[in-house]
Amino acid sequence: MLDKDEHVLVAVSGGKDSMGLLHFLVKLKKKMPKLELTALLIDEGIQGYRDRTIPNLVEYSKRHGVKYIIASFRDYVGRTLDEIVKESFERKLPYMPCSYCGVFRRYIMNAVARETNTTAIATAHNMDDMVQTFLMNLVNNNWDRIFSLTPVRKLSEDFIVKRIKPFYEIPEKESALYALVNNLITPEFNQCPYVKYNVRFTIRKILNELEDKYPGSKYGLLRSLLELFQIQGGIQMPVKKYYKCTICGQPSSHAVCKACLFKAELRLLTYEQVKKSIQDN
Ligand code: SF4
Ligand code: ZN
Repeated sequence: MLDKDEHVLVAVSGGKDSMGLLHFLVKLKKKMPKLELTALLIDEGIQGYRDRTIPNLVEYSKRHGVKYIIASFRDYVGRTLDEIVKESFERKLPYMPCSYCGVFRRYIMNAVARETNTTAIATAHNMDDMVQTFLMNLVNNNWDRIFSLTPVRKLSEDFIVKRIKPFYEIPEKESALYALVNNLITPEFNQCPYVKYNVRFTIRKILNELEDKYPGSKYGLLRSLLELFQIQGGIQMPVKKYYKCTICGQPSSHAVCKACLFKAELRLLTYEQVKKSIQDN
């Protein structure tokens, strides 16, 4: 997944999976000293949600000499997620909290990758995450999202930063065990108050029940997904054409990216600005 001299932005939440990934990469760096690592934690601005995980990342990073960045919705989007959700509900906009959260998190990750000249973004998606997302998008008939789950993903030649998922074959329980045996103290997350709006948690429950009854089901689903990638054209192939968003310059499947459209809906940008930027480009 990585060449020896890459600069990797490691997406961390401060919880067990992502701290495990960071630790794994810190150990890998001992074998590949030219590898550069920067940990990125995105603070969505959900009251109480990051209170324990931010100090956890800061403490680990200082102890192991890892560079870290804490990037907030407030700084990059202009509002906290709590403020966005409040406004969205009040104005009866048709989006759920997790939609804003996912889109703006990807937006911030790309922005920080650009600012720090990273060549790869590593996320801690494990096997459970992979098959949950696979199933969620099957339910929604969203094949673009399914094909964007490839373990190594490069959008196109124009966007050099690739996405990697080093833990994509590791079951969640093993990833937790790895954190435990490496003494990565990971505090329990405070529950996100918006979790009830997220279909993932129902799918997660269903998959765990399936696995309990028929062990190996998750692994079977993962294999099916990987075979789909092969049928579709190889695990590193770009799936569709990506453009540069005419407003923010980030990768987008349309002239204006979803983050900028959300900003316009939330009146952080005007539709005039959106129209003008499309006309000018
Ligand atoms: Fe974001 Fe939804 Fe997860 Fe909460 S549950 S952190 S809103 S994706
Ligand atoms: Zn944009």
